[in-house]
Amino acid sequence: MGKKHIFNAGPCLLPQVAIDNAIEALKDFKGTGVSLISISHRTKGWDEVMDECRALWKELLHIPEGYEVVFLGGGASLGFLYVAMNYLENKAGYLETGVWAKKALKEAKGLGNAFAVASSADKNYCYIPKGYEIPADLDYFHITTNNTIYGTEIREDIDCPVPLIADMSSDILSRPVDVSKYALIYGGAQKNAGPAGVAFAIIKTDSLGKVSRYLPTMLDYRTHIDKLSMFNTPPVFSIFVMNETLKWLKGIGGVEAIHKINVKKAETLYAEIDRNPLFVGTAAKEDRSIMNICFVMAPGHEDLQDEFLKFAVARDIVGIKGHRSVGGFRASTYNACTQEDVEALVAAMQDFEKLHV
Ligand SMILES: *Cc1c(COP(=O)(O)O)cnc(C)c1O
Repeated sequence: MGKKHIFNAGPCLLPQVAIDNAIEALKDFKGTGVSLISISHRTKGWDEVMDECRALWKELLHIPEGYEVVFLGGGASLGFLYVAMNYLENKAGYLETGVWAKKALKEAKGLGNAFAVASSADKNYCYIPKGYEIPADLDYFHITTNNTIYGTEIREDIDCPVPLIADMSSDILSRPVDVSKYALIYGGAQKNAGPAGVAFAIIKTDSLGKVSRYLPTMLDYRTHIDKLSMFNTPPVFSIFVMNETLKWLKGIGGVEAIHKINVKKAETLYAEIDRNPLFVGTAAKEDRSIMNICFVMAPGHEDLQDEFLKFAVARDIVGIKGHRSVGGFRASTYNACTQEDVEALVAAMQDFEKLHV
């Protein structure tokens, strides 16, 4: 089998070393003679993995004092409910930048007064709203920093007069973040941090405890902070692979180094999209994501879409079919995707052009 160039949107490509080490641990966890998925999470060797993983999150993102990192079940989708449960008392504002943002808002609406401060629904979420005012009396303002489906991204840490909460499922660890600007950053691991089955939350501890509702034990972030993410049985396999992924990231120079690589990959692919007469990008240029690069066939060439997909697959390029709500193509260039993978896609686009223009 030839080497595949994997552009899946999530779960995504992970570094090979993380996969290899996971295979070893599945057979024998740290020389115990027991498989990783059969050990007790109360054994000493497991504590070390949890501690190392938490420490790596803090180190890689330069998380300041006063924050804790927890690992949870339920993905980012349960995170939407965690947010509303733990922070919504009177009123919450959301930036509606896509399907995930809308789903987050829906959970908050179910619990109280929550609304969209601004939305880009008018143009199928192809841009990030600008010039909106964040009301000063909100309990929190919620943003989705990277809109995985539409390929738009808020690439700066915005100034916010109220506690800022961000779903960073699909751009966490892809670029430096000033964590101190956020009350909470959360997401599913499976886009950039690890495999499916675990979610993360980076919580400013003094932002909690401000709501009067009853918080079910499992939905109270404080439970997981107090019990070091082991109130109940943690997903040991997912956390193990996440830890290996973070070790790999640290080894190549951390978030700052991967950011440079990610920008170069994105620039390479966007340059080809803008140059090649067969393709056009769908996201507003100033809001283009460096993680999910969305494009369609140029007007007049729409009938070539399926042919290009097949052409790409024949060259071992997989996972570029766009989400059904945008159509066309989406190349997800998460951390483990390489410049070489992107260049393989660019070469395919150029060769396809030679056949058709
Ligand atoms: C994938 C994704 C989600 C949903 O994640 P799950 O872990 O599957 O619940 C939420 N938000 C964003 C931005 C995503 O990309």
